[in-house]
Amino acid sequence: MNAAIPPSTPHTGERVLQGLGVSSGIAIGFAEFVGQVLEEPELSSISKERVESEYARLAVALEMTKGQILELHKLLGDDDGGAAPSHSTIFESHALLLEDPVVIDEVRRKTADELKCIDWVYYQTIRGYIDQLRKVDDAYLSERAVDLEDVAARLLKNLRAGDGASADATPVQRAWVGQTVLLGHDLSPSDTAGIDRSQVRGFATEVGSATSHTAILARSLNLPAVVALHELPRDSYTGAPVIIDGYEGRVILNPTQSTLRSYAKRAAVEEKRLEKLSDLKTADTRTKDGDRMLLSANLEFVTEIADLKELNVDGVGLFRTEFLFLCDGDSRSEECQYETYRTIAEGAGRHGVIIRTLDIGGDKLLPELRLDPEPNPFLGWRGIRLTLDEDELFRSQLRAILRASAHGKVRVMFPFISTLEELQAAKRCFNRVKKELADEGVPFDPEVEIGAMIEIPSAVFIAGHLAKEVDFFSIGTNDLIQYTTAVDRVNDRVAHLYQPMHPAVIEMIRTTVEAAHRNGIWCGICGEAAADLEMTPIWVGLGVDELSVGLGQLLKLRAALASLSGEPCRQLVRDLRENAGKAEDVRQLCLQVAQEAYPDLLISKAVERN
Ligand code: PEP
Ligand code: MG
Repeated sequence: MNAAIPPSTPHTGERVLQGLGVSSGIAIGFAEFVGQVLEEPELSSISKERVESEYARLAVALEMTKGQILELHKLLGDDDGGAAPSHSTIFESHALLLEDPVVIDEVRRKTADELKCIDWVYYQTIRGYIDQLRKVDDAYLSERAVDLEDVAARLLKNLRAGDGASADATPVQRAWVGQTVLLGHDLSPSDTAGIDRSQVRGFATEVGSATSHTAILARSLNLPAVVALHELPRDSYTGAPVIIDGYEGRVILNPTQSTLRSYAKRAAVEEKRLEKLSDLKTADTRTKDGDRMLLSANLEFVTEIADLKELNVDGVGLFRTEFLFLCDGDSRSEECQYETYRTIAEGAGRHGVIIRTLDIGGDKLLPELRLDPEPNPFLGWRGIRLTLDEDELFRSQLRAILRASAHGKVRVMFPFISTLEELQAAKRCFNRVKKELADEGVPFDPEVEIGAMIEIPSAVFIAGHLAKEVDFFSIGTNDLIQYTTAVDRVNDRVAHLYQPMHPAVIEMIRTTVEAAHRNGIWCGICGEAAADLEMTPIWVGLGVDELSVGLGQLLKLRAALASLSGEPCRQLVRDLRENAGKAEDVRQLCLQVAQEAYPDLLISKAVERN
């Protein structure tokens, strides 16, 4: 974070909002709202002589709005640098809607004919177009209605700004350009993937949860983030200074100088705390008894590979390939995928990389699928279901993965397995692609191991059968929790029921690990629970072979593991089976072991969970 303090705007007052911190850290910057709300402006009559100056106000506001749209385009990534080129289309269409000559002529004509202020005329005109678009039974056109609303709201705000009514940054504050904090109703995973890190300090949204892919990406990008704010005030805070407190889930709009100073201090303390852990960067990962535990990293972006060596990571336990596909650009081509997988295979470390085949669906939708939404996307055409239906897409991904295996240790993993048939079908495709490459004389590792993600309850209960088909399991707790407890992982209304420590979840994980070991294969965990320090004693007690976590969580987990002995953890697992009927029981029993072993690490955890 940048500890320097921007000046606060005097006229809007400090406002503190409480949400859920999903990516720790403190960010200070200026508020930029993504997605605007269109409100009817006040109606006032004008004289004939005012008409020309109304036209001039409109022209100035049009220019300002266009500039802001382009600016936002840059913040959310552009064609050349960003991971989500689909934005180009959105922003270009916003700019086009803004400059539509039919609309502008109509607004000018009505202003002159009706002698009403141009804000009101513009609103009435654009509202008419929006209502017409909404009535058309076409997903594409109704999406354009949302775009039009966003653009029009921006324009109206800029018309008012010309009257001096805005809380936009003063020139002194604008000197802080490059310190933007994004605020909005929601950010999609592809919005987040495309964020320009050199410009954006953090973000906050009205909806969201800790295991949404947006939150997972925020942690990967090291961007402080707060979600589930429910209602963000908009207009009067655009351009105002804002603090995102990812530790405590707070957003402070237009903070006072004294709040800013105390946050700058707090950030310095946190930095020191993290520095202390840096002694562990070169250490192996072992328990207190000296038993080796594999500690791997979850990666979303190939750019993260540089940090792996620095942290002495064993390998990449999960490479999520979806972000290569969330745009319609070239990054989905076999060649581009091959280059990405090869770079990761070459830099992944001793244990190599586990490349997960495409897990599209749920909250990660391909641009083309957004036009044909499903009623229950998390229960729908997702992961292996989609790739088994889309033969060409699956084939080219498997080809790229196998080709990369000639350059480093690569494993392949199939997501969202719910039946034995799916796993067997995926293996048939995999073997067919291997034969195809061998016939073409293309080099690859013929011994590439395959694994299944265990993240659906039906897979847990047939784990013994699945284990006979694969070399390893990796437990996806993010989904296993959502499907076990019937709680949508991105719905903040029922977030209190999304319980990683639900005894049923722990029992599912125990069943899976035992089935793996009984069948002579290893089992890791790659969901977010792998990094939950209150749960670490359970993973040791169950004999989990590998934990794969985000890079930012790695050193703390290594420190926790180094403080734990096997026997109290095994006893804990026995106690949990006998005595824990509720998530809170599980938590209390875990805390008894964890507090004894690493109280210091839990202090920061308490701050983060607040
Ligand atoms: C999981 O479900 O736990 C997992 C690691 O995969 P994802 O979060 O991408 O669904
Ligand atoms: Mg999953």
